[in-house]
Amino acid sequence: MKHEYDFLVVGAGLFGATFACMAKQHGKKCLVIDKRSHLGGNVYCEDAEGITVHKYGPHIFHTHDEKVWNFVNRFVSFNRFTLNTIANYKGKLYNLPFNMYTFYQMWGVTQPEEARRIIESQRREAVMENPANLEEQAICLVGRDVYATLIKGYTEKQWGRACTELPASIIKRLPVRFTFDNNYFNDRYQGIPVEGYNVLIKGLLDGIEWRTGCNYLDDRAYFDGLADEIVYTGPIDEYFGWSLGFLEYRSLRFEQEMLPVSNYQGNAIVNYTERTVPYTRIVEHKHFEPGNGAVLSLPYTVVTREYPADYTPGSEAYYPVDNKRNRDLHAAYQDMGRCNVPHTWFAGRLGSYKYVDMGQAISSALKFSKALL
Ligand code: UDP
Repeated sequence: MKHEYDFLVVGAGLFGATFACMAKQHGKKCLVIDKRSHLGGNVYCEDAEGITVHKYGPHIFHTHDEKVWNFVNRFVSFNRFTLNTIANYKGKLYNLPFNMYTFYQMWGVTQPEEARRIIESQRREAVMENPANLEEQAICLVGRDVYATLIKGYTEKQWGRACTELPASIIKRLPVRFTFDNNYFNDRYQGIPVEGYNVLIKGLLDGIEWRTGCNYLDDRAYFDGLADEIVYTGPIDEYFGWSLGFLEYRSLRFEQEMLPVSNYQGNAIVNYTERTVPYTRIVEHKHFEPGNGAVLSLPYTVVTREYPADYTPGSEAYYPVDNKRNRDLHAAYQDMGRCNVPHTWFAGRLGSYKYVDMGQAISSALKFSKALL
């Protein structure tokens, strides 16, 4: 029987919106639903008296993929924002990611060879051939001092476990450079939509039906009856009622505050790398708009403190915890989906249980659409 829609897309984040956009281009009729009261998933922004606030943590668009960059530029134009993160450890400031500025601040060295020598000697002292966990990997990459000052405390509060129990892959996300380059990303393209991420999502969903405040899992039979096929981008374990067990995530709590000063910290993101400071970073949203004099000169500012939090099933899932147990469990849920649920595709960040950047989310949605449509 032919249903009203070709596709029901569960989840109006970047993956779902990109898929719906491509489906429409292929002449397919889609309905996009989201349980939140707004579109956009975690890229959603809110206006606070003229300042665009990234409600679910800072989102900086970056990609090396020209196709992805050209695709998003069909909907929005990007500003020249480049992420240069500052780390505050016991009141002293360091540049991130790890580069010659960081090594100068740490050891007073001015030449790459001096920095390399120090890192090499700290690595040798720690005697590590094949780094087996995040601590060993970090010492190998940047030495013991940088690890103790900028990595250990931050990572242990962020992930709620010891660095020796975390995979090396987490720290490999950050570049290590022996040049004076504070750009957090190596990608060729970077920026933030001038009109904000909400405009990007509206552009992707132009001409497509959507409903917010709609939880698919509350009325599965009704929603299943609406479409020929379903693209489900929510947590796959929740879809199956956690019947094989819970996938672990790390969650976040945001504390937003408007302050009566024009410029609070002089940078979009300042990380607090000490274990005893309960938050990981403070985001000052107006600095995401460099060159926007009207916003930067406002006599007030909005900051958000980001607190890592334990995840309880059903609450907001942010970072997948990458270990063997969770990878195996996710694979078992995927098998369950393939074998028992016809016409439903599990995809996106939560469906595929992967920590992805926005560029990767769009790239995977474009590839997924190409395969399916
Ligand atoms: N990290 C760190 N110190 C910092 C920033 C990051 O040790 O000041 C480590 C930490 O383990 C974190 C990982 O690097 O989980 C990845 O950081 P990234 O900035 O990519 O995290 P995100 O912004 O995606 O939360």
